[in-house]
Amino acid sequence: MKEEDGMKFKRVKLMGKNLDDVRPKILARGMEIVDEKFDLVIAHGGDGTLLWAERDFPGVPKLPLRDARTAPQCVEHSYDRVLDALLADKLEETILPKLECIYQDKRTIALNDIFVHNLERASALRYKVFIDNELYANEIVGDSVGVATVHGCTAYYRSITHSLFRVGLGLAFSNSTEEINHLVIDDKSEVKIRIIRGPGLVIADNSPQTIEVPNQGEVIIRMAPERALIYGLKGFMCPACRVLRHPNKLPFKIMIATEQK
Ligand SMILES: [Zn+2]
Repeated sequence: MKEEDGMKFKRVKLMGKNLDDVRPKILARGMEIVDEKFDLVIAHGGDGTLLWAERDFPGVPKLPLRDARTAPQCVEHSYDRVLDALLADKLEETILPKLECIYQDKRTIALNDIFVHNLERASALRYKVFIDNELYANEIVGDSVGVATVHGCTAYYRSITHSLFRVGLGLAFSNSTEEINHLVIDDKSEVKIRIIRGPGLVIADNSPQTIEVPNQGEVIIRMAPERALIYGLKGFMCPACRVLRHPNKLPFKIMIATEQK
């Protein structure tokens, strides 16, 4: 409305769970919560909520807020602190790369990872892997194969490789019978997976929209031209907050946001 407000985000879309916990705080700061023509999406929940927000509203900046009911926040990352920082334009912006997977005329994109699983859970997938059109693995038998981004490497990639990486793309193989290690490749590289015995099922992040790939089908996984713009990602991924989510691993007491006054 009034340009002289100088408010960067006047109209925001709010999505996720337990929205009543944050709605009053957003409204109290003079923002409007709307369902169209918004210039920011506030994703209240966990990592999955951010992925869902990015999938539904690509191209719109996101502010992920951890749901304090399931993930207590550290003092620095209470709702009030984060929302105040947003309005003061003090939240850092992170531009995250995204992945795309192409199968014939179908395309899907992801922020974290894209994996090809076996459609038939009871039997293994048999596949070949090419990196930049060069045969990398001739025939692998396993549960799944896929690629993760740097941001996504803390999710499924870590659970199957027990490793992380800081640059490039991670190529991982889940439960393969051959001796094959995960590897980190250049972020301009293209991974091609040819299904020998499937069918395969492509899953991008936590999307319910999957792509079925028949035997001899080939999928390409590579960096997408799209990017995601996230505000306050460091806070969202904050190690102190994370410790609070895993209290059994709590090495020392950290004051949580809901306790401070
Ligand atoms: Zn924190």
